[in-house]
Amino acid sequence: MMSKRIPVAGPSITEKEIAYVTDAVTRAWYADANIYHQRFERAFAEYAGRKHAMALPSCTSALHLALLALGVGPGDEVIVPESTWIATAAPIIYVGATPVFADVDRATWCIAPDSVAALLSPATKAVIAVDLYGNVANYDAILKVTEPAGVALIEDAAQAAGAERGGKKAGAFGAISVFSFHGSKTLTTGEGGMLLTDDDALFRRASIQRDHGRMPGDTNFFNQEIGQKYKMSSMQAALGLAQLERLDELIARKREIFGWYREELAGVNEISLNVEDPGSRSAYWMVTAILSPSLGVDGAALRGALLERGIETRPFFHPLSSLPAFSNVATVGKGMVAYELAPFGVNLPSALSLTRDDVRFVSSAVREIALSGVTAGR
Ligand SMILES: *Cc1c(COP(=O)(O)O)cnc(C)c1O
Repeated sequence: MMSKRIPVAGPSITEKEIAYVTDAVTRAWYADANIYHQRFERAFAEYAGRKHAMALPSCTSALHLALLALGVGPGDEVIVPESTWIATAAPIIYVGATPVFADVDRATWCIAPDSVAALLSPATKAVIAVDLYGNVANYDAILKVTEPAGVALIEDAAQAAGAERGGKKAGAFGAISVFSFHGSKTLTTGEGGMLLTDDDALFRRASIQRDHGRMPGDTNFFNQEIGQKYKMSSMQAALGLAQLERLDELIARKREIFGWYREELAGVNEISLNVEDPGSRSAYWMVTAILSPSLGVDGAALRGALLERGIETRPFFHPLSSLPAFSNVATVGKGMVAYELAPFGVNLPSALSLTRDDVRFVSSAVREIALSGVTAGR
């Protein structure tokens, strides 16, 4: 029996985080209740090169607010990539609109601009692009499709804090961008999220909707409309600020971990890892292996065999249209790149706690299992 388990995801927490959270729980009350929100939001907006930032309880809530602020509702269509976490698309259902599933790029796994172009309709109100596994989507090409059509673009940068493209940070693209600080994400607040925009009107709409329909600054508790209750605690904001101040260090660590895998798996042509587009810098949230079908081992078999050795993994995202949750949504489905990749894709352990030895151990197990054609059920 393996006693040690190698985790697929997990954070780096230091004395800095503990000090900030301790200070928040000690001091951030009464007139100082919002000091950490203000610092975290200002620092995050500055980091991403945005005018406004709003700290939230999750990225799911940030996406919900983004759609509400853009006025997306019943009868509207929102284009999302097939390959992403369900949180990208679920808020489309919350507001009564219809998700339309686009294909992804074979190299970067991010939404394919030509697929977006093919799916535009008079009902398309927005496109949500996802910076998958830390690769920033091709926004130059996406905007060439969305801008002439007058369709709003939302950047789901949940997996990409610290990534870059064309000299801009993840979170700098689209009318609104969103982040997740869930415990599995590189920058974490335990649970949490952020909404960013340069647009004053969109920020105001989101501010009203996040606080039970109160006007910003309302001290009369006089609600103008029915809204949501989406707020982050000051302890979470303090944790986020400490993590943001360490983000360059966290990304350097993620890139080092990816480099170790690249070294260990070099020369295995049947296994391909994350691809960085020219001019971009991946945050490598999840080191992801795509197995060649010629190996005769699929992702599920590799995952099962790795788990027997105490190695945690995740499947490459199932295409959203393949999920029972979306069984009533029309889709192009089979034949898409997203459907080709999913059965052969595995997220390898990418936690910030990994050591060089862990990566050597995982990589040799991957080589051995993939190259011997062993199946999980043996
Ligand atoms: C994690 C994630 C989300 C949701 O984040 P929560 O903070 O858990 O709501 C949304 N989109 C993507 C692409 C994610 O990876």
